[in-house]
Amino acid sequence: MICTIDLHNHSCLSPCGSLEMSPSAMVKRAKHLGISLLGLSDHNSTRNLPAFDVCCTNQGIFPLCGIEVTTREEVHVTCYFETLKTAQHFGRFIESLLPDIPNSPDLLGDQVYVDSREHILGEVEKSLGQAADITFEQLLEEVHGLNGLFIPAHIDRPYFSVSSQLGFLPDLPYDAVESIRVPSAIDTYQNNVITNSDAHYLDGMGRRSWQIEISEYSFTAISAALESGNFRISQ
Ligand SMILES: [Zn+2]
Ligand SMILES: [Zn+2]
Repeated sequence: MICTIDLHNHSCLSPCGSLEMSPSAMVKRAKHLGISLLGLSDHNSTRNLPAFDVCCTNQGIFPLCGIEVTTREEVHVTCYFETLKTAQHFGRFIESLLPDIPNSPDLLGDQVYVDSREHILGEVEKSLGQAADITFEQLLEEVHGLNGLFIPAHIDRPYFSVSSQLGFLPDLPYDAVESIRVPSAIDTYQNNVITNSDAHYLDGMGRRSWQIEISEYSFTAISAALESGNFRISQ
């Protein structure tokens, strides 16, 4: 079957994510847009994944539990895991690698995590916009050690990308690379190139969703489709 997928989205937990981006509202929006495989990848934290998982299940959407890590080189990498539990475990690990710099909500935005009914459960005190104390290559090892997907984010952006921070894309076993402008990236890179909305507002969701062919709704099937290039980006 061919499904609409959008892997990279931020909730109200990300300092730059709008407060309207509760997991509940995001999942409803995805349903409206016909997205059946939805990813959540907040900056350096996974605390909104439990609510996201519940909301997806309630709406019949397959959840991709992820995180967007800022490496020591300030490269953004989206990582996804087969289970909520593994993703949460990884999220705690990444949060522990962040410097003890408190967030300034007035300056940088709120970092709230909520339940599936939009009740605020708490606020992350450390600034999630900082770099975690882990290198790009170390991160790849950790993610693959947990059988997760390692996807360098927005590789063609002039900031927080492999191209802006490292100057090149190291030859490593990526599961895919994410680009904003896919055709030019396909010309430049040999890897499987995908795109995603990287939405921070409800209006931004679905603007760069794409199609993937999977045999069943499972993380393994999605991984296999990525590996074999069994997907289509309409740009
Ligand atoms: Zn990013
Ligand atoms: Zn992002």
